[in-house]
Amino acid sequence: MREYLKFYIDGQWVDPVAPKQLDVINPATEEVCGHISLGTAADVDKAVKAARKAFATWSLTSREERIDVLQRIIAEYQKRYGDLAAAITEEMGAPASLSQRAQAAIGIGHLQTAIEVLKAYKFEEDRGPTRIVKEPIGVCGFITPWNWPINQIVCKVAPALATGCTMVLKPSEVAPYSGYIFSEIMHAAGVPAGVYNMINGDGPGVGAAISAHPDIDMVSFTGSTRAGIEVAKAAAPTVKRVAQELGGKSPNIILEDADMKKAVGGGVMHVMQNSGQSCNAPTRMLVPSKKMEEAIAIAKATAESVTVGDPNGNVQMGPVVSEVQFKKIQGLIQKGIDEGATLVTGGVGRPEGIEKGYFVKPTVFANVTNDMTIAKEEIFGPVVSILGYDSVDEAVRVGNDTEYGLAAYISGSDQGKIREVAAQLRAGQVAINGAGGDLMAPFGGYKMSGNGREWGDHAFAEFLETKAVLGYTPAQAAE
Ligand code: NAD
Repeated sequence: MREYLKFYIDGQWVDPVAPKQLDVINPATEEVCGHISLGTAADVDKAVKAARKAFATWSLTSREERIDVLQRIIAEYQKRYGDLAAAITEEMGAPASLSQRAQAAIGIGHLQTAIEVLKAYKFEEDRGPTRIVKEPIGVCGFITPWNWPINQIVCKVAPALATGCTMVLKPSEVAPYSGYIFSEIMHAAGVPAGVYNMINGDGPGVGAAISAHPDIDMVSFTGSTRAGIEVAKAAAPTVKRVAQELGGKSPNIILEDADMKKAVGGGVMHVMQNSGQSCNAPTRMLVPSKKMEEAIAIAKATAESVTVGDPNGNVQMGPVVSEVQFKKIQGLIQKGIDEGATLVTGGVGRPEGIEKGYFVKPTVFANVTNDMTIAKEEIFGPVVSILGYDSVDEAVRVGNDTEYGLAAYISGSDQGKIREVAAQLRAGQVAINGAGGDLMAPFGGYKMSGNGREWGDHAFAEFLETKAVLGYTPAQAAE
């Protein structure tokens, strides 16, 4: 049982202003596995004051000093690597192998990336007598989700630290353990007091207070489009910058000359990874109508090969995160059936032999049309929808026919054709033939998938203000 009841403010573990607890549920067992405290606006205020005070000195640190701090964080992170991976499996159900290989690993990746970018980043540029300076924006508020919990925390914290910002983080209340351990890592690394602060809490209690706080200069939010809109509305009266990383319903266009086994099998496995709980999951698979039978057979065999069960065992898929998500996914699978899609495999209910835990059957639908609910709504579960197309133009049109625009995928052999399709897709990331894993590549969405870009050097821009100093002549510069 984990009792993570304190908040990390101004370099110390402190009690909440008004004690109130929340149970944390292990999704594999449906049992309470620990408690956190739910903060309030008063806790946010304390943390913002500490961050504001620390900004005065942290914003003036040298590149070398910040690289040193980032390196110390990596060293402490490495010591707690196993703890972090285990916490992620416990809090949100990712299989232990995925937590080890990807969920925990990506945090170190973002820290290393921030160091690499910081080494060479141009914070000043002279254009004749005008100097353009990039300065840290100030105190940042971070609100993060449960699905890749450490990824989403560190991809904000690392570039914010690197650019000289200070911050207040609110991890997801559904999966709060890894954020708590990360705060212990920050403390052990000797991050100066007040530079990094963490408060647990829910959206209405702490998320809304961060969004509206007049002394927070920017908010970076990752989560649902619904909550992202609330954050932007709450932030509007203070005219703070708002970065939003929201939902997705990504098309996976399989061209006629694709290696079908690789493209279809890989696409299905990509959705099943993390139980379908990735914002960039390729959930709408677009297949040439003449190849439909072959695609369905491959998708069925692939989904049926996925091992589901105790995430601490040797399985490919654990549960989904919570009862709320479990019920939502079950409802959407039923909706797919009711609206006339063909259930190829999976369906409602738990996988055979599993009585307890939020486990969902790996599910594939065929004969899906783009107006069906399962093609429109983000399911955030292990559910693939296969749609047929008769021309590449139609595939592109259907691919873009979504309110989202986070990611898109293309498989095929003709590089010219692939590039033509990539140019037409309205999405922040387009992955060709299963490419992935580039932490320097900007990550973020078009349309309702968000605003701004995270990862690599693009992440730095989120945390910087731009100042133009006119008449900055060499003579004045030397004074
Ligand atoms: P969520 O929106 O319910 O919660 C995300 C965070 O926002 C949590 O910390 C929550 O407490 C907080 N929150 C909720 N309501 C709020 C409010 N009114 N004001 C301020 N904060 C509020 O999302 P979730 O269920 O945790 O995560 C799943 C969603 O996140 C999916 O839609 C997924 O696509 C999206 N996501 C997007 C990306 C991306 O980079 N685009 C990455 C991962 C997840």
